Amino acid sequence: MVKILVAGFKGRMGNTTVKMVLEHTGFELAAVFDPRADEKNINEIAEFSQLDVPVYRSLAEIDCHAIDVWIDFTSPKAVFSNAKFALQHKISPVIGTTGLQDDQVAELKKIASETKTGGLIAPNFGISAVLLMQFAQQAAKYLPDVEIIEMHHDNKLDAPSGTAINTAKLIAEVRQEHYQGNPAETESLPGARGANYQGMRIHSVRLPGYVAHEQVLFGGPGEALTIRQDSFDRSSFMSGVAVAVSKITDQHKLLIGLENLL
Ligand code: NAP
Repeated sequence: MVKILVAGFKGRMGNTTVKMVLEHTGFELAAVFDPRADEKNINEIAEFSQLDVPVYRSLAEIDCHAIDVWIDFTSPKAVFSNAKFALQHKISPVIGTTGLQDDQVAELKKIASETKTGGLIAPNFGISAVLLMQFAQQAAKYLPDVEIIEMHHDNKLDAPSGTAINTAKLIAEVRQEHYQGNPAETESLPGARGANYQGMRIHSVRLPGYVAHEQVLFGGPGEALTIRQDSFDRSSFMSGVAVAVSKITDQHKLLIGLENLL
C-alpha cells in the first residue's frame, strides 16, 4: 500500500484526489494537509465521516514516517515550501499545483538529487494535454509560427497556465527563436497580443463554466493547423495522478511532466 498525504484536500482538485485515493485498492489515505482547515480529523467532514485520517495544519505536525507520497493541489504561493518539505523528508512529491518558478524548480531538483528522492511536477495530468504537448512539439518543426490560447475557469490564480508554459518550452526546443507578426505592429489596448515567450504569443482566457482547455494554432503560407484539448471534468486528471503515485517511489530524482512516467 502506498501511504499518501493530500495537500489542499478541501480544494476542487484536492477533494477529487482524496476520493480517487480512497477508491484505489493500492493506495492508503494516511493524512491530509491544509493550514486553514478547522478540522483535526477528516471524519469531521460529513462525506468522510466513516474515515479516521488526521488533518495536519502545519508542516511541523506531520508524521513523515507514515507517508510515502505527497500529492499537492494547493496554490502557487504554497507549493514550493510544501514540495521542499516533502523532499527534505524523503517523501515523494507528486505536484499538480502550477505556478512554480524556474529557480524554484531548480532548487527542488537539487534537493531531490541530494536526498535521492523521486518526485514529479506535472503541469497537466490529463492524457489529452500530454498528447497535445507532444503533437505541438512535432508540428512546430514544420510550422514554426505558433500562438497558444489556454482557457480555464475564472477561479484560477496563475496565468498563463502551467500547461501553456510547458507547451511553449517544448516547442522552443525545436523552433528557432524568431519574432512573429508585423515588426511594426502596435497595441492600441495593452496586452492585446498576449504574453511573449521567445516570440510565441500566449493568451489566457478565464471564464466561468470552463475547466481546463488549450489550443495551439500554427500558421504557414496558405495553411493552418489547430491542435486542441479539453478537460471537461476534474476526474480526467485522476488516472494520471494514480500512475504518478504508483511509479514515483521507484525514482531517485525530480521529473517534470507526466510523459516521463508513461
Ligand atoms: P482550489 O480549489 O483553490 O484548491 C486549492 C486548495 O489548497 C484550497 O482548499 C486552499 O485552501 C488550499 N491551500 C492553500 N494553501 C495551502 C497550503 N499551504 N497547504 C495546503 N493547502 C493549501 O484550486 P484547484 O482548482 O483545486 O487547483 C489547485 C492547483 O492545481 C492550481 O494550481 C491549479 O492550476 C492546479 N491544477 C493542476 C492540474 C494538473 O493536471 N496538474 C489540473 C487542475 C488544476 P484555501 O481556500 O483556504 O486557501
